[in-house]
Order: sequence, then C-alpha cells, then structure tokens
Amino acid sequence: MRLSRYFLPLLKEDPKEAQIVSHKLMLRAGLIRQQAAGIYTWLPLGLRALDNVERIVADELDKAGCVRVLMPTLQPTELWKESGRYDALGKEMLRFKDRADRELLYSPTNEEMIIDNFRAFVQSYKALPLNLYQINWKFRDEIRPRFGVMRGREFLMKDGYSFHLTLDDAKREYAQMYDTYHRIFKRLGLTSIAVSADSGAIGGSLSHEFQVIADTGESALYYDAAFDDIRAGKVEMSGEEMRKLYAAADELHVPEKCPVPKERLREARGIEVGHIFLLGRKYTDAMGVDVAGPDGKPTRVEMATFGIGVSRLVAAIIEAHHDSNGIIWPEAVTPFKVGIVNLKVGDAGCDAACDALYNALEKAGVETLYDDRKESAGSKFATMDLIGLPWVAAIGPRGVASGTVELKNRTTGEKMELSAEAVVTKVAG
Ligand code: ATP
Ligand code: MG
Repeated sequence: MRLSRYFLPLLKEDPKEAQIVSHKLMLRAGLIRQQAAGIYTWLPLGLRALDNVERIVADELDKAGCVRVLMPTLQPTELWKESGRYDALGKEMLRFKDRADRELLYSPTNEEMIIDNFRAFVQSYKALPLNLYQINWKFRDEIRPRFGVMRGREFLMKDGYSFHLTLDDAKREYAQMYDTYHRIFKRLGLTSIAVSADSGAIGGSLSHEFQVIADTGESALYYDAAFDDIRAGKVEMSGEEMRKLYAAADELHVPEKCPVPKERLREARGIEVGHIFLLGRKYTDAMGVDVAGPDGKPTRVEMATFGIGVSRLVAAIIEAHHDSNGIIWPEAVTPFKVGIVNLKVGDAGCDAACDALYNALEKAGVETLYDDRKESAGSKFATMDLIGLPWVAAIGPRGVASGTVELKNRTTGEKMELSAEAVVTKVAG
C-alpha cells in the first residue's frame, strides 16, 4: 500500500478524552474514531489489526473443532421472554420497534438465538457434541463506556456455544476451550491468566475469566505466584495443572478462605479478554431443549458458552506492547509487516530503489506500507514508530549509492545495513 493513496488520519496531540495508553495510541495512530459514547469507526489501519485478531481467533477455534455461523445482530424479544432473561439485562439491552410495532433488540449475547437454531435441527444425541460460534457485533448500553474500545457500547465479540448429552461431556469441552483460549491469546502476543469468576447474568455453575495483566485493567485478581513463573516462561504447565492453581477474580476472593499462603499470593489488575461458562441445563431447562438419547428417550441437553472480546483485544495488545514513541505490534496482528521510508521522494535513484523493494516485498507476500509522501525524514520515522510496524526499511541517496537498505527492528531498535534481497528474506521469514 502506498501511503500517498492510503487513509491514515493521525493526531498530533494526545487526545484529551483518552486516559489510558492504548486509547491514546489508537486515536493518535489513526486506528479508530469515536462516533458517539462507546461507538467507533474502525479506520483502515485499525481494521487490519482487528481482522488479524479475528482471523487468529477463528483459526484456533476451527482447529479445535468448533463450527462458525453468523446470526443476526437484531433479535425478536420473544426468545428472551422464553428464557426468562428479558428483564434480567435491564437497561444494558437496547430495545426498539420495527414498523409493524414488533419489539426487537440488538444482541448483547446470543444464547437464546443459538438454542433456537439448535432445536430447529437437532433431534438426536448423534449430532452431539456440537460447538457453534460466531464473531459478530454486540451492543450493551454500558453505564460508563470508557477507555476507547476497551469498554465500548458496540463491540466485536466471539461468542461460542456447545451442546452435549452429558455434563461430563460439557466439562470436557470446557477444559478443551480453556486450553484453546490460552493458545489464542499466546498467538496474539499476550499472556493470560484464567481466574475463577462469577457467572453473572450469563449464569451456570463454573466459570473462568481470561485476564491479561495490566495496571490499567478494570478487574482485580488474586493468584498463586506460580502463574508469574508461567508468564515469564520459566515453567510450562498443562491446562489441567493450571486449573488446580489458585486464581480468583475480586468478587470470588475471600482472604480468610484463600488456600495460598500470603507470601505466595499475588494481586494484580487485569483486562478481561475472555470468559467461559459451564451452563449445564440453565437455558435448555428454560427453553425445554431435549434430544433423543441412546435409549430413545428425551434427554435434556447440557451446555457451555465461551466469549472473547475481539475488539477489546486490539486495545489489550497495545497496552501490552508499546513504548513512549508508539505501538509495537506483535507480528501476528500487525496491520502491515514492514514500512518503507523513502528519504528523498522525487530523487530518481531513491524512487527507483524504493519501488523495487516495494514490488519485491509485495511479490513475496509481505504486507508493506510504503511512505512515498513528500514529508521530512524525521516525521516519516516518527509516523512509523507511532503506528508500530515490526520492521522499517529506509532508503536515501547514501543507500542508493552503496546499494543498501537500512532495516530497523521496532521491538529491539536494532538497525542493519542490508541488500534489498536480504531485507525481503529477513522480513518474509
Ligand atoms: P465485563 O466484566 O468486562 O463487563 P462481561 O463479563 O460483561 O465483561 P461477557 O459477557 O463475559 O462480558 O463477554 C465476553 C467478552 O466480551 C468479555 O470477556 C470481554 O472481553 C468482552 N466484552 C464484554 N463487554 C465489553 C465491552 N463493553 N466492550 C468491549 N468488550 C467487551
Ligand atoms: Mg465476563
């Protein structure tokens, strides 16, 4: 992509409304723009990062045997009356009427609707287990939307729902998703701690929140110091071993009953990026969902449900990966892998060398943002630092003369003088 033809609206100053670093950087680097409280446009650069997060989430879920669907954002309210949750969500749920005076709501979550789809088609235990998910926009009329897309009113969520013949099957899937979630967050460049949590309005008997440690996080958590060793990469543990360690959300932590001695108990702030619930029969009882069991008799279906805050993740990744100059994207989610800085636009040699490098990178399948604008070198480098691409390749008259490119690594700050071919090999690898 040539920057001269792109749409990258940067802000020079720190926006006053932003309190936390990810919100500031998302506004300054032209990733998002607020349209109303908690409602955002995703600008081109932000959308590329959001799409990458979405793709990784979907890829890991597909590998884990989940099946993707897409439900509407608008729902008739009848299903919510059937489940008994019509009143439970109160003012968080946005309701309105269509021209025929029928009441609709904008999905805050989709348990009722997925169950409605399930019961329309599944009559036998033979179709189980079944784990269906979607990645779609949700609306919750939060009292205090804040911190940008971290706590929006409209936000992108991955919501998954699994159906089982027995509670043991549901527990097995819950454990599998627990492991899958850790894998997803790791691929996104995050270390997550799963804490036992309250199941809130979703309900159920067992639940874990996946938290990314950050001082700006809205949740308070308490956990066994062993998790710090896992986070530091000093110890490897299976999901089963991890689930035995103590980790609890604020509301479930009772100091008097905590099994971890004081000196091994850690307290931290976290960003909730995922939440899983073992539902059992809570919804299938309310909505009367049975399948024919192996004995031919109607058997009540057991469920679990699994959420990930996809748009919140973009902000969480920035909270975890930045410096005073800007964002430092992990390679897996970066909007572009490399930026090219032409230090003397209009100079025939520089233009030709940059064009050649750009074409070679594109040909190698490397997503490249080429700064071909007539701006000062200082301002171009500052832009590259702010938007945080993992690699920046700069070419000026000196490089043209010596046949080299200066390649900088955004994470380490390390600079190398390489041939154009070596740059392509390095960043493509
Ligand atoms: P929170 O405690 O942060 O309000 P929640 O427990 O109400 O979240 P869930 O119903 O568990 O949220 O939703 C699944 C995931 O969706 C959460 O783990 C979170 O990552 C994300 N999410 C929830 N509310 C928001 C929001 N207002 N803005 C952005 N992401 C959100
Ligand atoms: Mg939650």
